[in-house]
Amino acid sequence: MKPGKVYLVGAGPGDPELMTLKAKRLLSQADVILFDRLLSPETLSGLENKELIDVGKSASHHKLTQDEINALLVKKAKEGKMVVRLKGGDPYLFGRGGEEALILLAEEIPVEVVPGVTSAIAAPELAGIPVTHRGITSSLTIVTGHEDPGKDSPLDWSAIAKLGGTLVVLMGVSRLDKNVGALISEGKSPDTPAAIVEKGGWPEQRLITGTLGNIVQKAKGAKVEPPAILVVGEVVNLTEKLAQKGQKARNAQSAGKKLAILRLDAQAAESSRLARESGFDPVCAPAIALEKKPLPEDILSRVEASDCVVFTSANGVDIASNNPSLLRSLKSKKIISIGPKTKIALEKLGFSSSTPEEYSSAGLEKMLSGKEGRVIFLRSAQGNQYLAKDLRKSGMQVDDVPLYEVKASGDKRLDDLILKADEIDIFAFTSSTTARYLMERAKEMDQEGQLRRALESARVAVIGLPTAAELKRLGIRVDVMPEKFTFESMIQALRSTQ
Ligand code: SAH
Repeated sequence: MKPGKVYLVGAGPGDPELMTLKAKRLLSQADVILFDRLLSPETLSGLENKELIDVGKSASHHKLTQDEINALLVKKAKEGKMVVRLKGGDPYLFGRGGEEALILLAEEIPVEVVPGVTSAIAAPELAGIPVTHRGITSSLTIVTGHEDPGKDSPLDWSAIAKLGGTLVVLMGVSRLDKNVGALISEGKSPDTPAAIVEKGGWPEQRLITGTLGNIVQKAKGAKVEPPAILVVGEVVNLTEKLAQKGQKARNAQSAGKKLAILRLDAQAAESSRLARESGFDPVCAPAIALEKKPLPEDILSRVEASDCVVFTSANGVDIASNNPSLLRSLKSKKIISIGPKTKIALEKLGFSSSTPEEYSSAGLEKMLSGKEGRVIFLRSAQGNQYLAKDLRKSGMQVDDVPLYEVKASGDKRLDDLILKADEIDIFAFTSSTTARYLMERAKEMDQEGQLRRALESARVAVIGLPTAAELKRLGIRVDVMPEKFTFESMIQALRSTQ
């Protein structure tokens, strides 16, 4: 068999928007993705249909050894697969990308490297520290703070301490005191400005500033965790001006507020971008997942017999779009979409549709009620049952085809969120099922009491009325509901009502 190809791809420092266009395209085309734990969870949102392999490693705990990773890359490529080896930052900067490329080439497997935004420059930058600055520094040295024991060319800390300019130390959290100690004992002034940037570009990014003399103490006090980098040099002082400016650009009130997004994984990336644009720190923890239902055999004749086809979600449109004959049968029909997202999904397929004034089942009912004829719903199996009943009462013939079922996600991120629920400032519920499955999972984990307490002290936002009704049924107070039932409006409502 002809071997596939391996792409060694840099994912950037963690913010999915800092990935290159090429990286994004390759991820969407890959058969297999091998990634490591440096990546922020959002980076892989929407790729759940790929073979995702976590080969991640931390300093003390290896999931797969480098040899095992190499062997896996070779194996997958030899199966003819298109493999993306996704690495934090840039693949060739302390990323062992070069080693992997050499091994693959020795096996005659085609390899291509795709550069990424390196954390060595981006993490300080995002915290307001330019690694070079005219008049202050014109050189930058990047070193690893965690060398392989027994390596043949150990770092020459004495030479490094004598260099002027900016020093960036990667992988240095566990050996911070040793590295800083070496710099000072080799003659670097303890008054040299120093900073630690933890999780640069992640929602939980933190900056700790000080001097070489006190940074170890400060890092201990702040309980710094990897990934983090140490920056040493006069440029650190610029953060006072540059970081402030960056922060002002964010929404002062929402800055730093953790907002839990519980919707489908496929929607998480876009929602999290919207939340971040408004200054919130999104935490994606999908509570639900979709399971496609087989289409009834007579679906085409049922659509044919209807005067009007109603879609109540973009998910429904996506599923219908996989069936060319169903799509063709919609061409001659009047189509109604429940709201703007569904409308856009239909527009992408070339269909125009009308929407009710209010983006909800109630809005649909108002729009359709009293009209004659036959309507067919293509929607979730758990769609609002009153809608069909009420429309029938008003004299319409209603056909209801379930395209998919909403089920519990089984996602580990939801479990993590439940365990750390008290850290969340805002819970954003985008459907009644997100609320139901969140509570059910918490019950299964024996964490219901803790979650309820967290919900009581957090702010709770819902997208619309049915979700509000479900929360009421679950005994959870609702603080915010937007006028228009969309995620964007919910975020705006949260921003304006703090
Ligand atoms: N190839 C990567 C670096 C891999 S070495 C790159 O180009 O960024 C791993 C080290 O990078 C971590 O120990 C940490 O020092 C640093 N690092 C990676 N991502 C980071 C981030 N988002 N914020 C701060 N440091 C990060």
